[in-house]
Amino acid sequence: MRMPAVFIGHGSPMNTLESNRWTDAWRELGRSVPRPRAVLAVSAHWYLNATAVTAMPRPRTIHDFYGFPDELFAFDYPAAGEPELAETVAQRCAPTWVGLDRDSWGIDHGTWSVLAHVFPEADVPVVQLSLDATKSFEEHLALGAQLSSLRDDGVMIVCSGNVVHHLGRLEWGNRGGAPWAESFDAAARELLAEAPGDLARLRERPEFSSAVPTPDHFLPLLYLGGLAAADGRGADLLVGGCTYGSLSMASYLLDG
Ligand code: ZN
Repeated sequence: MRMPAVFIGHGSPMNTLESNRWTDAWRELGRSVPRPRAVLAVSAHWYLNATAVTAMPRPRTIHDFYGFPDELFAFDYPAAGEPELAETVAQRCAPTWVGLDRDSWGIDHGTWSVLAHVFPEADVPVVQLSLDATKSFEEHLALGAQLSSLRDDGVMIVCSGNVVHHLGRLEWGNRGGAPWAESFDAAARELLAEAPGDLARLRERPEFSSAVPTPDHFLPLLYLGGLAAADGRGADLLVGGCTYGSLSMASYLLDG
């Protein structure tokens, strides 16, 4: 059975512990998808100058943030790894070289803040793929498309970032999005539905430098775009909406 692929707008790490309309949608997603053999997570928070894949049998839970409550630092997501899948991922990415990481990374909060709701029992093995900062948007889209066949091997691909993510422009009292954020978010939604392989065109939008001040949270979206393009169809909005002015919480689903 072909597994779905998703992009999740993860937002604040506090979503791990909270219940809101976004985490409700993540929980519903976990209940509605066929049970995967494993998750391949593409997280905004593993951003380095290479493509790497976690290949340890017991990945640690990484608390890669500061200034949050102790309860969040104590949170553990004890999902197993799957070294065999890591090797398969590396093969599917050829000729892009993929490093097998056996001891440095693990499961970061871009992944576990979401999976805590999608698979709360942590009983689905998790492998993470890094984002190579040296690659172009087009190269990330192409790499996403190369992962497509994994979906036929029982692997659910979970890309985790935020379409709009500007921490320097947060408006704490705003429960929606600033006009520029809403506008960029809508443009991304339209491209994902109609021309997901052309997501790199978002770079030409006037709001681009505000919505994407650094590439890390945007890049996971390109992996879903590549996967959708490989299927020759668009991705559907799973749950939408902006918050705090400059964060898009939009999530997208590509059905199996
Ligand atoms: Zn994040």
